[in-house]
Amino acid sequence: MTIDGKTKIVGIIGWPIEHTLSPAFHNAAFKKAKLNWVYLPLPVEPEHLGPAVEGMKALNFAGFNITMPHKRAVIDYIDGLTEEAKIIEAVNTVKREDGGFIGYNTDCRGFIESLRRDAGFDPGGRSALIVGAGGAARSVATALAMNGAAAVTIVNRTPAKARLIALLIKENFAGCEVKVLAQNDEKILSDIKRSQLIVNATSVGMGNNPGLPIAVDGIGKDHLIYDLIYSPPETEFLLKAKSRGARVINGVKMLLYQGMVAWEIWTGQRPPAETMAETLLSELQRRVF
Ligand code: NAP
Repeated sequence: MTIDGKTKIVGIIGWPIEHTLSPAFHNAAFKKAKLNWVYLPLPVEPEHLGPAVEGMKALNFAGFNITMPHKRAVIDYIDGLTEEAKIIEAVNTVKREDGGFIGYNTDCRGFIESLRRDAGFDPGGRSALIVGAGGAARSVATALAMNGAAAVTIVNRTPAKARLIALLIKENFAGCEVKVLAQNDEKILSDIKRSQLIVNATSVGMGNNPGLPIAVDGIGKDHLIYDLIYSPPETEFLLKAKSRGARVINGVKMLLYQGMVAWEIWTGQRPPAETMAETLLSELQRRVF
């Protein structure tokens, strides 16, 4: 890659940022498409978010990605939102448009695309149970309701946060029945049984946060279990669900597709899908094994 005076700059802001996989697959895609662009990891502490966004504007960044913990807070520092990002109230991609920064949410599309293409699951008319009520759960709940899910149950350790997502769904998608349960509510079992899709949208199952997001009782061969976590590739939750006969999918394709959508938003070109997928998978393998 040659950096010169015409190089367009994008990047990802987050705190911490050292484990991000995005620079590897975005830069590989720029190289493959012969685009003079570069994608940088940008560590931004929460108290420096405003000046960081202003700085990227002053430095003529073409756009940037946003990861934890800035996906909601960044909204205060940009100039506009797409309809989707407005509903979800979280932004993971920003593009410079006519001098202003516009916020998009590509997690939503990444999730639905992976659900349809890789798990062959259409949420239309189906019931889902989502564990978690953070930024990722907001995107998943919105994506499901937007794509015709009949019912969504949100289970969270802190039910107040789940109620905020339920409100968002009720206000925007009248056709989707929504319900909130606390993590220790015994009614979870009957909601597991009536759901065809169960999504772990918590960080429980990652290396630094081991364990199960919910008990696996009631999970069986008629369920699709989706864990948004991709490292480790098989969480304890996925392993236990698989041993009970359920179909399982991890979050790697969601990560890939949200990145492909962001790349297309910035460049206006179709992304080199194979290059991005191969780079992401080899980078993951290099780190995990
Ligand atoms: P977040 O906003 O920080 O939310 C974290 C969620 O996990 C909250 O619901 C939190 O519950 C719950 N949680 C954390 N530790 C817990 C524990 N010990 N017991 C019970 N619940 C616990 O994070 P996020 O952005 O939504 O991300 C959530 C997960 O999704 C992460 O693993 C992230 O890597 C993954 N993710 C994957 C993709 C992808 O492309 N595959 C995209 C985005 C996110 P409380 O509300 O009670 O705190």
